[in-house]
Amino acid sequence: MAEEKSKTAKLKEEIMMPESKGTKALSKKEIKKADEFCEGYKKFLNHSPIEREAVRYSVKLAKKAGFTEFEPDKKYEPGDKVYYINRDKAIALAVIGKNGTKNGVKLAIAHIDSPRIDLKPNPLYEANNLALFKTHYYGGLKKYQWTAIPLSLHGTVVKLDGARVDVSWGDAEDESCFCVTDLLPHLAREQAAKPMSKAFTGEDMNVLVGSRPYDTKDDEKDLVKLNVMAILNKKYGIRESDFLSAELCLIPSFKCKDIGFDASMIGGYGHDDKVCAYPALMASIDVEVPEQTCVTYLTDKEETGSDGNTGMQSDFLRYFIYDLAKSDGEEGYRVLSKSTCLSADVNAAFDPTYASAYEINNSSFINNGVVISKYTGHGGKYDTSDASAEYMGKIRSMLEKNSILWQVGELGKVDIGGGGTIAKYVANMNVDVVDLGVPVLSMHAPFEIVSKTDVYMAYRAFYTFFDSKN
Ligand code: MN
Ligand code: MN
Repeated sequence: MAEEKSKTAKLKEEIMMPESKGTKALSKKEIKKADEFCEGYKKFLNHSPIEREAVRYSVKLAKKAGFTEFEPDKKYEPGDKVYYINRDKAIALAVIGKNGTKNGVKLAIAHIDSPRIDLKPNPLYEANNLALFKTHYYGGLKKYQWTAIPLSLHGTVVKLDGARVDVSWGDAEDESCFCVTDLLPHLAREQAAKPMSKAFTGEDMNVLVGSRPYDTKDDEKDLVKLNVMAILNKKYGIRESDFLSAELCLIPSFKCKDIGFDASMIGGYGHDDKVCAYPALMASIDVEVPEQTCVTYLTDKEETGSDGNTGMQSDFLRYFIYDLAKSDGEEGYRVLSKSTCLSADVNAAFDPTYASAYEINNSSFINNGVVISKYTGHGGKYDTSDASAEYMGKIRSMLEKNSILWQVGELGKVDIGGGGTIAKYVANMNVDVVDLGVPVLSMHAPFEIVSKTDVYMAYRAFYTFFDSKN
């Protein structure tokens, strides 16, 4: 016999916020769907460590789903699906709605760049018979985490004659890779006494790339460096001066892997922010004929402030929306003013080992679903757009009505640090926007961790947003 609830228990149920049930709130079937969805995500993650590769893989998936390259002057019909590439580093995908752009568009935006180690323009040097690359790290990272792990070289070189060569070295099991060395603990007494920011500096992030001299009897200097360049010349046809017109970077060599005895999580490089990019991409692939035109935009340069023509501060997305508006006979700025957006970026999941950095009542947790951040930024709400109560209300009710597991999250304690997203750049275009994404453990580490059900809830959120009538 069921026990009679007390009056207070009933009142609590009625007016107090319920505790999140996490995975317990999900059916077996739903957990299975999440696991299946994540198999596709893991492939995406492994194929997309850098923005150019993420664009290439996204186009492949989009084309397979019937997307065609956008032609600005063409007339599109409801249900048509198009993609538009910005300099091979960012991509917009649109699904034309029954009402087109008349009532604004629905935007899901995520970034496909991740923290990494870029080569300096003049990287190659020889020291004590070792060949090394000088680097300049990209984005916010804890430098020591990038030492003593296998690294692969990815990117693009443009030669003097204009020919472009794509470089990928180090991922395959039987292929050599690269490494930033670290000082042995036996000799690290001085290093260990330094604060973390000084123990390992940007100029210490030198990558070991060779140690054998070029095979010659001639008495020349720097033969190890010459040997490295001769190998690169043979494989890619490049000379040392071609580094000047290159975008090359080092990323972890390892593939993503399931985490835990229960395989409930995924560890991998670049979850921030492919873990939101992929669900947003799949939402545009899976949505059929939406009411309003839906746009997924995967952008570059978020990790360095969104500047530049491939970053979110570029006018590329604005122009794309203006083009979509024009083909409907609408004014671009009016379309933007009626548009709504989910800014799809990760948030810091509460980590019990570092509990003191978080404020537990306003943190997001692994397995509690997709996380909404009303604002990001830092102490005193600087550098952020703050979503309105009205828009929060709208998104909250959409998630509740569709039984999508969700939570709110602030990035740690108020005065402890902070970080931003691209939401504010969209908000500046007079669009209603809020951050919605996946909680991540070890964010910005070479090996970040997410929960499979959270990834799936992000997909369900973007899909429902695109598919819903208002
Ligand atoms: Mn991010
Ligand atoms: Mn980030």
